[in-house]
Amino acid sequence: MVNLLSIADIKPKMRGWSAHVTVQEKMHIASSQKSPTRYQKFVFSDNQGSRVEGIMFNAAIEKMGSKLHTFKKYLISNADVKEIEEQYQTNGLTIQWVISAKTVVEELSEQGSCVLTNEFTPISFKDLASYADSKSQTVDIMAVVVDSMPVIPIKRDSQESFVQRFLIVNEEMVPTVLSLWNTFVENEGKLLTDHHNKHPVLICRRLKVVTYNGIALSTRNDSVIVVDPPVRDARSLKNWASRNEKELLALCRDKPYNNQSPKMFYGPRQKLTEIRDVLPTEKVSWVKCMFSFEHILQKYWYMACVKCRRLTSADYGCTYTCNHCNEKQSAQPRCRFDIDLTDHSDTITASIFGEQAETLLGFTASQAMHYFNRNEDLPLAKLHEELKNKMFIVQLKPGSTKNDGSYQRYTIVYYFEENAETTSAENQLHRGSNASTANESYLQITTDQAPSCVASPPDKEELPSRTRRSLLSSLDESEETTPKRQRKK
Ligand SMILES: [Zn+2]
Repeated sequence: MVNLLSIADIKPKMRGWSAHVTVQEKMHIASSQKSPTRYQKFVFSDNQGSRVEGIMFNAAIEKMGSKLHTFKKYLISNADVKEIEEQYQTNGLTIQWVISAKTVVEELSEQGSCVLTNEFTPISFKDLASYADSKSQTVDIMAVVVDSMPVIPIKRDSQESFVQRFLIVNEEMVPTVLSLWNTFVENEGKLLTDHHNKHPVLICRRLKVVTYNGIALSTRNDSVIVVDPPVRDARSLKNWASRNEKELLALCRDKPYNNQSPKMFYGPRQKLTEIRDVLPTEKVSWVKCMFSFEHILQKYWYMACVKCRRLTSADYGCTYTCNHCNEKQSAQPRCRFDIDLTDHSDTITASIFGEQAETLLGFTASQAMHYFNRNEDLPLAKLHEELKNKMFIVQLKPGSTKNDGSYQRYTIVYYFEENAETTSAENQLHRGSNASTANESYLQITTDQAPSCVASPPDKEELPSRTRRSLLSSLDESEETTPKRQRKK
């Protein structure tokens, strides 16, 4: 006789029970840090809305793991019921069922297998901004995959990790980049690459929101991705995708997410910080300030690896083996300069890079290089004059100080002019006309993408101070001995 109980009624050490459960989540196999033990976690729910953790260890994973599929229903009997020690609790679950090769697990085939996930509320893409770069908050989403990028290996020290990016969208039509890392590349990434023409629908849980050419999403170790889940809302989304085939194809072609407005992630909940209160311990800060750099003597560009953006001494256009990404790459100028940001409280210096720097400057890195090589100043008088009457909203992040702690560096992640729709539109046009650069920047790697388990991939923005000094040494050799900035009198 089957003693059918609900999850809530099944207590630790109990025997002689059975339960009907739905697999809500199936996590990737993981290994514990201190021992060779491997484990795989699940979340089960029942029709009362109760949830419990399922866990398998070592050999049981191969034997039993493949039996359980997300969103399917099972009868489970006499798993080992345990309390979870507090430091191992996740998802607010306190009880776990240890499933071994002896545990009874039977799939229940039900009429109308379409499941409604009671606990899953996908977030609106328009609200993603409020979660950007949060260490503790994650988001759940549902989306259609419209495009897939190649897998990119990232080497740092002896660690190798892999990232693969996908373009996803839902009915809101806010195209967003989703980065899958490592195990997710091997599993879901492969599946999605094989099927991306069929617009697979994803349910993703516990994704990080990162700032990466705008707002992007990234997997964490404990994220869960379900491809084409048997969920009613997911089927509606898939139908929506087939009705809007043309628009989605246009997204693949135009890659409009490269022009994503930075305003999109300056959310209403974003708090502005006074410049005197900007702390290097904050991952990002938003400030409202004026820009000035007329008084800073600088070069406006540096020679960089086209892929990883690290500084190189290679000559313009030369193909060389980059010491940072270990690949044969071409040396190309990249725009970079320092700006003083001033509000009523203080002034802080920050560096701006790449397309954003070019847009602000009104010259490309190549143009800046040609002026420099001809020993001519960039004609910036008009720009300096205009900047005196403009206010900007800026997102800052602290730069690295590991090589030289003499002063804290900051990088401008994004900026836009306050109350200036026209300027923003011009920026968009400017970017749109520069498609190849846009594509490259799409493939840039930032540390924000790295899951906590792997070493950070190379950072595109932060030039160590040592590099910066050598960058300026062509202007003034004394820079090498005095780490102070050179300014025009
Ligand atoms: Zn490189």
